[in-house]
Amino acid sequence: MLAERMQRLGTETAFEVLARARELEAQGQDIVHLEIGEPDFDTPANIVEAAIRALREGDTHYGPAAGKPEFRRVIAEFISRDRGIAVGPENVVVTPGGKPIMTFVMTALVNAGDEVIYPNPGFPIYESVINFLGARAVPLPLREERDFSFDVDELRSLVTDRTRLLIINSPQNPTGGVIPAADLDAIAELCVERDIWVLSDEIYSKILYDGRHESIATRPGMLERTIILDGHSKTYAMTGWRLGYGVMPATLAAAVAKLQTNVTSCTASFVQTAGMEALTGPQDAVTAMVAEFRRRRDLLVDGLNAIPGISCRRPQGAFYVFPNVTGLGRSSREIEQLLLNEYGVAALSGTAFGAHGEGYLRFSYANSQEAIRKALERVARLADDLRS
Ligand code: PLP
Repeated sequence: MLAERMQRLGTETAFEVLARARELEAQGQDIVHLEIGEPDFDTPANIVEAAIRALREGDTHYGPAAGKPEFRRVIAEFISRDRGIAVGPENVVVTPGGKPIMTFVMTALVNAGDEVIYPNPGFPIYESVINFLGARAVPLPLREERDFSFDVDELRSLVTDRTRLLIINSPQNPTGGVIPAADLDAIAELCVERDIWVLSDEIYSKILYDGRHESIATRPGMLERTIILDGHSKTYAMTGWRLGYGVMPATLAAAVAKLQTNVTSCTASFVQTAGMEALTGPQDAVTAMVAEFRRRRDLLVDGLNAIPGISCRRPQGAFYVFPNVTGLGRSSREIEQLLLNEYGVAALSGTAFGAHGEGYLRFSYANSQEAIRKALERVARLADDLRS
């Protein structure tokens, strides 16, 4: 009944766990939610007020496909300053969330039969879109012993004459890993040498606990072959507003804007106005959110490491931990189900992010310290029961 290409399209299974958790709650069970990939904080009030003001002032019409000119300028100035590169409004396309940048950029760059290298475990939409386009999805395994970065020599071994694009994500979902600066140098050299584009997913750039975020776009020869994906969803707790953007060479930006004309026409006008306030207004809500995330990270990592059978790295960014649960003697998926159905903790099997996620779980700490403490007690009980 459906077109053949639909068989190649994947999805995000995270939403299935959420649906099951809600079903259990409807039956009266108490569930701790550590599966959700969005900040639990409210959007800062100054941003909300800017949107309300914009609506009242009639900011409710179609706008240019690539985004409002003044917003593109604000984004270009922000990215130039924040990343230390020189980009202009012609390099920016505003989209409803950061996610459309993945599909638009790959549609614009990747031919059927091309190879695309992507992190595994990683955000499931990368692999889904690569397959959908009839390209070959080449997984790049992330290594726990490297704090969930990858081995650049291993990356080099995966490159062929058909490699068109490399996707990187730092700080990373689902592991919280960050790519070391020296690795960015080596990856950039390889991509310049082999003429490979890079989609650099930097949506968690502001949720970083040590050091400064670095973009691969700063490396020699990279600006003309890098697409930076960023947006407001995570930094400003604006997931439901749908606001993101890509920064890329101008000719590619024009192609991406053309795709946007065909798909969504444009991003909501008043949402862009609110997004401008987010980038130009006070940033203290972001600082406070990241400080709280850090406290929760430490609580969760220390708590998990105290449970026999579980070991957990201390991630440098994002709001996820990715503990190794092989010591519990069950598959990740079995543990995910047991935890949810019998112990009241919603978390995701590492395999929700690709085959290389086997042996791990992903816990999001976008929930209160109290909820995290409760979840830790329940996980400890599960570990105890599995041992006896
Ligand atoms: N990239 C990564 C790695 C993510 O984890 C997410 C959201 O979970 C996105 C992109 C998409 O963000 P948005 O909600 O802005 O589309």
